Amino acid sequence: MRIILLGPPGSGKGTQAQRLIERYGIVQLSTGEMLRAAVAAGTPVGLKAKEIMAGGGLVPDDVVVGIIADRIEQPDAKKGFILDGFPRTVPQAEALDELLKHRRLKLDAVIELRVNESALLDRVETRVAQMRERGEEIRVDDTPEVLTKRLASYRSQTEPLIHYYSERRKLSTVDGMMTIDEVTRAIHRLLLALGAVEPKNHAKSAQAKFKDKTAAKAGPAKPGAKKAAKTAKNSAKAAKKSGKAKKASGGAKKAAKKTVRRIAKKGPKKGPKKVTKKRAKR
Ligand code: AMP
Repeated sequence: MRIILLGPPGSGKGTQAQRLIERYGIVQLSTGEMLRAAVAAGTPVGLKAKEIMAGGGLVPDDVVVGIIADRIEQPDAKKGFILDGFPRTVPQAEALDELLKHRRLKLDAVIELRVNESALLDRVETRVAQMRERGEEIRVDDTPEVLTKRLASYRSQTEPLIHYYSERRKLSTVDGMMTIDEVTRAIHRLLLALGAVEPKNHAKSAQAKFKDKTAAKAGPAKPGAKKAAKTAKNSAKAAKKSGKAKKASGGAKKAAKKTVRRIAKKGPKKGPKKVTKKRAKR
């Protein structure tokens, strides 16, 4: 599974990505984290990115595209990945399309976490307070001033991606103002609906329960319906074999369908087998 999480800073992309990797066993590729690691290690990329990141701007496209191109080649990304914070510009999205096309990989979904801008500052403040409590290092760009700039970058350079992916019928939007658990559930439902994940056993048993309930509502199964269907199938097969094939089997199928419908409605008549066989012969 390959998905993109799209949303402004503080929309919960990182939190949801963490949950997705636990649930589906795929990796999270966060360009922000990779860049922070590069800055901390003092690599050439880190040196390039340091000031830009501290000021809330965007690191040049070729730098982040290069990082992602290398990263998706790693063995742990073979099973799938969640892109968090990438792409952030239309040229990055185009470069990603090329990268995936070249490797014959498909993007399953782009999930936009939609949030009220007014809530974002509060969220980032909460994140900072929690990190402080845990004794973690605070990000230099998690200040109200830099956040304002990061939001401006999002609006002008990243928001156009909503249009880019909706034009390509890849975009799904989730209400990011719900609780963390609700957002996780909404994302899971979305991935199920898109066929990006297999329903788990519990989902299967829920389906079975639903079937039982519907069956119970519909009343007991009409006896003989199943049998008639089997007979119909067999007679259609036999008719096909015996030269008169198409016409006869068509007739047999029709007759059989009729019989099945009638039986399903009223219960079996005497000897449905004979009826269908006779018609098949004709
Ligand atoms: P994040 O952790 O995703 O909020 O990213 C932190 C900072 O890293 C951003 O404010 C940008 O300066 C830089 N950055 C991360 N991802 C990208 C990207 N895809 N394109 C350009 N800059 C990025």
